[in-house]
Amino acid sequence: MIGSALDHSDWVEKARTLTIDTGLFIDGAFVSAQSGQVMSCLYPANGACVAQVSFGGAADIDRAVESAKAAWTDGRWRHLPPRRRMDIFRRFADLVEAHGPELALLDTLAMGKPITDALTIDVPEAVVTIRYFGECIDKVSGAVTNSPFDATQMISREPLGVVGAISAWNYPLLMAVWKIAPALAAGNCVVLKPSERAPLSCLFLAKLFVEAGGPAGVFNVVNGAGADAGKALALHPDIAKISFTGSTAVGKQLMIYSGQSNLKRVSLETGGKSPQIFMDDLEDLDTAVDYAIRGIFDNAGQVCNAGSRLLVHERLHDEFIARFIQRTPDLYQPGDPLDPQTSLGPLACRAQQQTVLDWIGTGVGGGASLAMGGAPDENRPDGAYVSPTLLTAVTPQMSVGREEIFGPVAVVIPFKDEADAIRIANDSPYGLAASIWTADLKRAHRMIKDLEAGVIWVNCFGDGDMTQPFGGYKQSGNTRDKSMECLAGYMQSKAAWLNLA
Ligand code: NAD
Repeated sequence: MIGSALDHSDWVEKARTLTIDTGLFIDGAFVSAQSGQVMSCLYPANGACVAQVSFGGAADIDRAVESAKAAWTDGRWRHLPPRRRMDIFRRFADLVEAHGPELALLDTLAMGKPITDALTIDVPEAVVTIRYFGECIDKVSGAVTNSPFDATQMISREPLGVVGAISAWNYPLLMAVWKIAPALAAGNCVVLKPSERAPLSCLFLAKLFVEAGGPAGVFNVVNGAGADAGKALALHPDIAKISFTGSTAVGKQLMIYSGQSNLKRVSLETGGKSPQIFMDDLEDLDTAVDYAIRGIFDNAGQVCNAGSRLLVHERLHDEFIARFIQRTPDLYQPGDPLDPQTSLGPLACRAQQQTVLDWIGTGVGGGASLAMGGAPDENRPDGAYVSPTLLTAVTPQMSVGREEIFGPVAVVIPFKDEADAIRIANDSPYGLAASIWTADLKRAHRMIKDLEAGVIWVNCFGDGDMTQPFGGYKQSGNTRDKSMECLAGYMQSKAAWLNLA
């Protein structure tokens, strides 16, 4: 893996000398925001300013949409022969891979993700996503239906137009790529509004697309506030679809914007409170506990599908908790995210740290017991750290047992039997993911059918590949990322009836 040979001091030096693109990327070039406004991007491990980045607003969104619309109208992308677009996608993936260390570093500096995670998870997954959707480009086909002798009906799959992508900060590069790769592969043009908390890797990504041969104007990036630039994009009459990753509350707002504007499609990947269910017949408690820990503390719990609700059979309950508490420090040690040994970084910013600490306070105030963690890291007072936290004696009715915390906080809820586990798991406004730990595959099969979640893992957590549709039931969203199902969401069908009489 490129960059894996670097040690802590190498990464610190790389960060010091890194050139950071700070403009908005519109029509193939970096430009300043029309207002001249900039925002400070702060390294959450110590609050140092990493860069001053252009902060766009509605006027910049207008410029970017105009550029994307011109590219759409003259067909400079969608009219290219499929294999030409595939060549560009291949070069794009190669460039993202070659620049993996810089992209990883930009995400680490912007939101505190451990550099090893960025290098081994985010970047390779972004590369494979671009490759997957690039490979799909000439595999899309329509149909000629069984029509009368003197007529022919052709059903073709066409791109939608200009897609507005709005993404979150927890996997800044990867969440953006999950949107832009299928949107571009389908032949659309794109305006991406990344999270203002972590826009750096997305700006670099757009530059690489053009370097790979992508025509100017096809992929634009406007950094800016959600309530300003994001809202302007979602209300824009020339946007055919908003593809969103973020909170459920903002997702609901985007549907309203669609109704207030042009009824654009709105696809939502939103929040979660995913249950990890541990039946008393599971095969290997040590393995299950390790997965449970990783399922909640990876990326400091800032994961949409984080397994934040540990539903544990009452017979396993006490031993499970004891092992969880004993094992967590072996797997998650806070540190400087630029140190390749660090497994637990800070939260993305001070505000997120405070939100998570407030949730812990709410849980304890509501009767939960603090079994582990629950505080900032006293050795790193300048960083937005929260130690891995476990709340026990939680009931399904408590808000900490129901609401998304988006930090390193797991709650344990005991259950009596399979029916009880299913009832508690489904008693949630969310339905993104779930895991089932059992040695009985007949039981697993039954539970898969009963669980209200879009992604289910049996005897694992978080595993999968690009063929897996990723997305939620209920208020966790209305779409799927990854997979051919996702690609279909960036296209529409056209039925053409040819009268040949
Ligand atoms: P957020 O909803 O606050 O922001 C997401 C994006 O929406 C940002 O780019 C933001 O600027 C923009 N935004 C905010 N208000 C807006 C408005 N009024 N109009 C238009 N855009 C607006 O979410 P976040 O804090 O960045 O991310 C955390 C959330 O994302 C969590 O709820 C998490 O579960 C969710 N998430 C979901 C998935 C998934 O695949 N389901 C993946 C990652 C994160």
